Amino acid sequence: MIPGGVNSPVRAFRSVGGDPPFIVRGKGSHIWDADENEYIDYIGSWGPLILGHAEPNVLDAIVGAACNGTSFGASTPSEADLAEMVLGAFPNMQKLRFVSSGTEATMSAIRLARAYTKRKYIVKFEGCYHGHADALLVKAGSGVATLGIPGSAGVPEEFTMFTLALPFNNLPSVEYAFQKFKHQIACVIVEPVVGNMGCVPAADDYLVGLRLITQREHSVLIFDEVMTGFRVAFGGAQELYNIKPDLTTMGKIIGGGLPVGAYGGTKEIMDLVAPLGPMYQAGTLSGNPLAMAAGCAMLKQLRDRKEEIYPKIDKLSGELVNGVMTAARDAGVSLCANRVGSMFTWFFQKGPVTDWDSASKSNTESFGKFFRTMLDAGVYLPPSQYEAAFLGATHSEEDVQRTIAAAKQAFAGMKN
Ligand SMILES: *Cc1c(COP(=O)(O)O)cnc(C)c1O
Repeated sequence: MIPGGVNSPVRAFRSVGGDPPFIVRGKGSHIWDADENEYIDYIGSWGPLILGHAEPNVLDAIVGAACNGTSFGASTPSEADLAEMVLGAFPNMQKLRFVSSGTEATMSAIRLARAYTKRKYIVKFEGCYHGHADALLVKAGSGVATLGIPGSAGVPEEFTMFTLALPFNNLPSVEYAFQKFKHQIACVIVEPVVGNMGCVPAADDYLVGLRLITQREHSVLIFDEVMTGFRVAFGGAQELYNIKPDLTTMGKIIGGGLPVGAYGGTKEIMDLVAPLGPMYQAGTLSGNPLAMAAGCAMLKQLRDRKEEIYPKIDKLSGELVNGVMTAARDAGVSLCANRVGSMFTWFFQKGPVTDWDSASKSNTESFGKFFRTMLDAGVYLPPSQYEAAFLGATHSEEDVQRTIAAAKQAFAGMKN
């Protein structure tokens, strides 16, 4: 009934083999499938569930909102509450607009950058994913890469002719692009910590370099923080690295597990958005009251407990990543790891992994075998070498120790 049995391709397990379980329930860091198998979950709905599944405050907020009606297509107080909370955490943003997915957020931010600069070209980086809008499906990381599709069928080349895909962590190529397309580049969009070719952090000074170049060239710097926002720090990667982008896109965590995205930035740029300005963007269910309520409940807890949560998930993630690395070394399995806070990936290769070219040298066959063995042992990892795993506030020391023990077993059965 549904192509590949899934509503988003990576869920079909095509790059790791085997049949994906149907998930019927989640609580905290664990999920259960339709056959009552229990798993420790390191996907967390691909990032949103930093407080775990079925978090009581989020559930209460959703139920409370639902009892007053599910949608009005009109302004509601909860939109202002969530806006206030997001802007409070991201001081570089003066205004924002809510949408219903990360894809919509980045697509709209690009349109806005073009409207603001009156330029056509955009720069993105190989291995970065910014949702499935036509112009952004160029060298777009995990989902596209593991299916072996170059970009996507159905995208006319005229729609991507203004998209320049450059290697990540390479400033000279950015300088070169700005020379070659002088006064024509509207924006540079980047995942400040890449999650979509596996976890790949920016090299020292790379983000600073992007900020300096874009400022000098009067081009818009867009941080795509759909994954990193409220994940790598409460104020996202821009807080962690102290960089001020012009526009920021968000999604995942800000919806508390419901469909929400947002784009925002300086007042000067955001005031171009309709109805204040000429850049059109709209959404029937944008600012949906259930989604806003879930987001508010999520962000309120992250704000009130940030001194506890972020250090805790950083420490536990470090233990997990290092424990698995040690197990691999002891078993003679070639493995390297990248981690920023609670976002991480084990790459089946010697490493280091710093960009798409190096990431793609991973042994995906070994990864697939590891993935399946871990799944059988009750550990639910992202079903692709090129997706980041996530740990959240409800993961326990016991979860981590059980995961490391399962990895030891998995490596014992592998030779590479
Ligand atoms: C997930 C993601 C998107 C797309 O968000 P959707 O809600 O899936 O449309 C965009 N950018 C980044 C960095 C993401 O991780």
